[in-house]
Amino acid sequence: MHRYLPCFAGATDAFRKLRGKCGRCSNDGTVADMPAETLIVGGGPAGLAAAKFLADAGRPSRIIEKRAILGGKLSSWRDRDGDWLETGLHAFFGGYTSVHALLTEVGIADRILWQPHTLTWGLPPHFSPRWNGAAVFEEFHFVDMPAPLNGIGAVLSARYIFNAVEKLLFATGTLPILFRDHRYAERQDDLTYAEWHRKRGMTEHMLRTFFAPMALALNFTSVDEISAEALLRVMAYFASSKEASRAGFLDGPPSERLIAPLAEHVRARGVTIDVDAPAAELLFSGERCTGVRTRDGRAFAADNVILAAPVHDAAKLLPPAMLQHPSVHGVAKLESSPVINGHFWFDRVISPYTNLMFSPGTSLPVHADLGQASGGYGWQRGSFLEACIAPADDLIAQDDEAVIERVLTDMRSLYPLATREHLVKAKLVRVPKSVYRAKPGAERLRPGARTPAPNLFLAGCYTNHGFPASIEGAVRSARVAVDALLASR
Ligand SMILES: Cc1cc2nc3c(=O)[nH]c(=O)nc-3n(C[C@H](O)[C@H](O)[C@H](O)COP(=O)(O)OP(=O)(O)OC[C@H]3O[C@@H](n4cnc5c(N)ncnc54)[C@H](O)[C@@H]3O)c2cc1C
Repeated sequence: MHRYLPCFAGATDAFRKLRGKCGRCSNDGTVADMPAETLIVGGGPAGLAAAKFLADAGRPSRIIEKRAILGGKLSSWRDRDGDWLETGLHAFFGGYTSVHALLTEVGIADRILWQPHTLTWGLPPHFSPRWNGAAVFEEFHFVDMPAPLNGIGAVLSARYIFNAVEKLLFATGTLPILFRDHRYAERQDDLTYAEWHRKRGMTEHMLRTFFAPMALALNFTSVDEISAEALLRVMAYFASSKEASRAGFLDGPPSERLIAPLAEHVRARGVTIDVDAPAAELLFSGERCTGVRTRDGRAFAADNVILAAPVHDAAKLLPPAMLQHPSVHGVAKLESSPVINGHFWFDRVISPYTNLMFSPGTSLPVHADLGQASGGYGWQRGSFLEACIAPADDLIAQDDEAVIERVLTDMRSLYPLATREHLVKAKLVRVPKSVYRAKPGAERLRPGARTPAPNLFLAGCYTNHGFPASIEGAVRSARVAVDALLASR
């Protein structure tokens, strides 16, 4: 069935002022179907979770996704050899309560392979004059006690990264966080983490060894740039429950092991999913959003729209005049961090570790041997090491060979077997705009779910849901957006 959409030409004066002229939209669009009750723009974790939550509430929806595959930053696909590539190395954490609830309801919670409750730092020999020769591996074993004592025990048991004085400084420096004062973290958003760290009297050595890779793992942003609030919030979250800091990996590539079953789950509940459907324009009638026009001219009508695209795409879709409204102005102001996801296949096992690894002073600050950690990647003859290559502000413009050489050199300083001779192949996936960059002041720019249009809602890991940009954040954002939508009736 084809039907014509009303265009912004019929808008109320008040909303016309808000949106500006309607020169961007024409009224000749056709829709291929009946209007969706809710149209969700973006088939990443936030969009799929929103469809699930709407279906739970008995409310139909339709997802339109720009790319040919679902999953957004949690997507994976095969290369020409049949090996898996991913947008990002993804670790799940014990404190991802919303993700766990979602996976449990979809019946796939057992697909997270929980690792021993240890976080491991690999320090290359060149990094610190304290240790000469081989790399040093520091395993922070979380002890069997309630949080935050389990984490304090892990820090106290450290042998290399912290000396006795630094352990004391860690305890006194991070005290406000260990006792879960979230408001304290929020008040530090004007400082970078490095500034806050120095103010609290902790050493430069602690900053560069322990905290630097945490910041890069969290936001692909250095401790000199990241907001203190962002890192402190993560520490508070790690200290919030005994299992919050335990890491796990999916038992195979996310497209197969998480995204496909989640998409099947929502399809079975009546959700329609269109891929290769990039939204180009939001359509309005008066102050209401009436749907979306895609780049190829298709128009999708809807009673409600949830915009679950990344922040830089949301900024292109929201009308310029709306972007001046205080509730959503941050969408145009938030920047995104670049990152490169590196894939390295070796003909033998190069690392004895299967857990999540942090590595300061290298181009692979967070990495994991997914070949050994998870059989689902089909590479068990040796290591399949995936690494978030960051900060990538400069590296992203370099050619593949230069980046691979740089990462391989750093990798070899940790794992001597990571040589060209044992490397079967290496591939990079560049993500120039990944998650929003958590710089000082950015927290205040994160928009809520509501927009000036009463039936248009925002979801996505960059929105304000009280959690860092992550899979957990994406699912939480979907919950907040769906709750706002249901309340709006
Ligand atoms: C290298 C890397 C490593 C990461 N590691 C971790 C980790 O270990 N743990 C963790 O929790 N998180 C990690 N993350 C972050 C996590 O992937 C994201 O926070 C999460 O996937 C965001 O989900 P989302 O649905 O908000 O956005 P996205 O995943 O970006 O999904 C948005 C979707 O919207 C679509 N879209 C965009 N524009 C349009 C349009 N105009 N029309 C239609 N569709 C559109 C996109 O194609 C995409 O599919 C990592 C990210 C990267 C890049």
